[in-house]
Amino acid sequence: MSAMREFTVNVSKLLGSQAGTEIYIELNADAQSLGVPELQGCISGSLRILKGTKDVMVVGSVLTDLATPCRLCLDPIVKSTEIELEGRFVDSLAEDIVPESPNYDPDVFPLDVSGNLDLSDLARQCIVSSIDPNIDCNGSCEGYDAVLSAFGSDISDDIDPRWEPLKGLMKRSVDMESQQLKGDD
Ligand SMILES: [Zn+2]
Repeated sequence: MSAMREFTVNVSKLLGSQAGTEIYIELNADAQSLGVPELQGCISGSLRILKGTKDVMVVGSVLTDLATPCRLCLDPIVKSTEIELEGRFVDSLAEDIVPESPNYDPDVFPLDVSGNLDLSDLARQCIVSSIDPNIDCNGSCEGYDAVLSAFGSDISDDIDPRWEPLKGLMKRSVDMESQQLKGDD
């Protein structure tokens, strides 16, 4: 089993073997290089790479830390997250890659002529789609109750004065929405 510190692995040896052959690799790479702002530290996990007749499948799961902003207070919430990776790679000259081709498959990734398999697009796609946009710190941040009540329908008058501007914003957006609705009639 080989270890990967980068998101690229050379599978030329696997490509030369018969369909059904598989290898396992350990991934332990710096997450920052993927350019996803929520990613922290490393991405690690083990992946199975299987040679098919005309393609190569990558299947496995990786573990990483995601820092997602709380939907209310915007404080980052860091959570260790397991992400499933699954992708099909084909020769970069194959018809599957060409958008004009009848065999075009938008979900495949290219494998270059030297047999380099780059996992970064696959990892980025799987990670971004696993980020929960509605994450909530559930009271662990300062001011949570005040923000929560400002967002509630029953806006109390004794909220933290620092959140006061939010009340005005909320009211303005509600007013604008009702005006737009009227305009649609
Ligand atoms: Zn919060």
